[in-house]
Amino acid sequence: MKEFGYRRATDVSGAVALLDGDPGARFLGGGTNLVDLMKSGVERPSLLVDVRELPLGGIESTAEGGLRIGATVSNSDLAADGEVRRRYPLLAQAVLAGASGQLRNMATVGGNLLQRTRCGYFTDVSRPCNKRVPGSGCPAIQGEHHNHAILGASPHCVAVHPSDMGVALAALDAVVTYRTAQGEGRLPLTDFYLPVGDSPHRETALPPGALITGVVLPPAPVAAHSRYRKVRERASYAFAIGSVAAALAVEGGTVRQVRLALGAVASHPWRARAAEAALTGRPATPASFTAAAEAELATAAPLPHNGYKVTLLHNLMVAVLTELTQEATR
Ligand SMILES: Cc1cc2nc3c(=O)[nH]c(=O)nc-3n(C[C@H](O)[C@H](O)[C@H](O)COP(=O)(O)OP(=O)(O)OC[C@H]3O[C@@H](n4cnc5c(N)ncnc54)[C@H](O)[C@@H]3O)c2cc1C
Ligand code: SF4
Repeated sequence: MKEFGYRRATDVSGAVALLDGDPGARFLGGGTNLVDLMKSGVERPSLLVDVRELPLGGIESTAEGGLRIGATVSNSDLAADGEVRRRYPLLAQAVLAGASGQLRNMATVGGNLLQRTRCGYFTDVSRPCNKRVPGSGCPAIQGEHHNHAILGASPHCVAVHPSDMGVALAALDAVVTYRTAQGEGRLPLTDFYLPVGDSPHRETALPPGALITGVVLPPAPVAAHSRYRKVRERASYAFAIGSVAAALAVEGGTVRQVRLALGAVASHPWRARAAEAALTGRPATPASFTAAAEAELATAAPLPHNGYKVTLLHNLMVAVLTELTQEATR
């Protein structure tokens, strides 16, 4: 491993100042992704700025009736928080579906959003990869891609974003807050990740050196009745091969409100807006759910070895919406 410096930051402006003007420096959250990437030589930072002691570890209600979650809140504390479990249960379920207890104790909200893809070519520095070395090629397209993207990919990269938390946050219209040396900024989660296009190495709209300070959840009464369902190759301790975050309000047999997002299908958590549009105001029946799933997946472009995901995501959406409807009308 290349030599690097280490600083523990105790205030936000000091942390930001340490990264300002040093493109080789990186913030360190729980280190559960960054340190792995350093060991494999994908990341070679000059300086790690540890953010775990910054005063960003709280979860509090906002004046608007939502929640503000600090960037250094651990995944375990987020999933255990009473208000998160009561008002946004899909978020707690998504976090608990990820990694292991020990990893969740270390991993932070900011780090989870910025974790890198698990594409095997990306983490193997002996192989070309457009995301790691722009212009070097994408061996996944002809090679191993059974867990790669079916939506929104490009000929330059077909990797998926691995975060479970991010899928729930996409369904909740979460807003990411950040700080740079120039001041504060906000990005809706659905604009936070950049389309993959011809520059898969540019993953987010964050300005260089930005410190994520937290995530704001707007009030969403619909989310009190919600679910995160993840399919993986092992029963636990594995990344998703497909996941659905859903919140549903049904009145008199009609869908009044629905939030849907999909995971492990694209380079970012995928908000299923076509399905939402197809469902809102329609009867809450399996026929509507099937039509909505078809609408969302109409643009799916699977590769030779990941076509199974189209069926998987279709069935997952229908199943979760059916379960939520049955519970709402019980
Ligand atoms: C074996 C294993 C299994 C896993 N399974 C899952 C899973 O099933 N589902 C899932 O969602 N995840 C899974 N993970 C990933 C895990 O959730 C992430 O590694 C973790 O969330 C990253 O958080 P961290 O705080 O450790 O980030 P770090 O590793 O510290 O940082 C990750 C990136 O974020 C940057 N960063 C960190 N904090 C900030 C900040 N405040 N502002 C700006 N940049 C910041 C770092 O510079 C780095 O680039 C797994 C990980 C492992 C090792
Ligand atoms: S899919 Fe993306 S991350 Fe994987 S090899 Fe291709 S360019 Fe690299």
